[in-house]
Amino acid sequence: MRNKIVAGNWKMNKNSAETAELIDDLISTVKPASAEVMIAPTFVNLAAAVNKLDGSSIEVVAQNMHFAESGAFTGEISGDMLRSIGIQTVILGHSERRAYFGEDDALLAKKVDAALKVGMRIIFCFGEELQERKAGDHFNVVERQLKNGLFHLNASSWGQIVLAYEPVWAIGTGETASPEQAQEMHAFIRKTIATAYDESVSQKVTILYGGSVKPGNAKEIFSKEDVDGGLIGGASLVAADFAAIVAAA
Ligand code: PGA
Repeated sequence: MRNKIVAGNWKMNKNSAETAELIDDLISTVKPASAEVMIAPTFVNLAAAVNKLDGSSIEVVAQNMHFAESGAFTGEISGDMLRSIGIQTVILGHSERRAYFGEDDALLAKKVDAALKVGMRIIFCFGEELQERKAGDHFNVVERQLKNGLFHLNASSWGQIVLAYEPVWAIGTGETASPEQAQEMHAFIRKTIATAYDESVSQKVTILYGGSVKPGNAKEIFSKEDVDGGLIGGASLVAADFAAIVAAA
């Protein structure tokens, strides 16, 4: 049995008061579930979120971190800083980081190593763009992103890795991959990992789907054999919607 996870990626949304309010709403609406539940508020609100959710089953995770341990990197946040406020998990490689902040596979491999070095768990995001899918190149793109970002790791490090397949054309667009398209890619991801490592690594790794998951489509997507939960953007900002998605996992 693999761990199921439903993680809310709040992106650059919710100021301090709004963060507190949404967390209060989540505490009253999210029911205990078979899935692990995580939320990723912005950096400035992480410490307050950790304090507010102390003792709750909702884990607070970070949306990003820098690869260096410390030093002259104005505006950046290190893994050690995140750990020091009680953060144990970080999202890396989100398509918005790749597209708008120039994060490429090589940089992400360094971030992966840095996060593992401070003992963090990683939700590693990847996925093809629309023109890549249209060109029939989506499997190659995903294989390349996995290989360049993660396949330098030892098998033992994979206990700290969660994957999030997020086709870029489905993020924030209202367009979801069909449950069949998600399953097809998740099965391909597992096969690719089995080839690079072995069946035990590939069968154990949690693979989330992300891209316009909503209360109305979550159950069907999550019911697919190789889909182990979701990374939720827009719908994670509405407590009732997020709670319904958690209940579907
Ligand atoms: P979305 O975002 O659910 O709003 O499509 C998903 C994500 O970017 O992680």
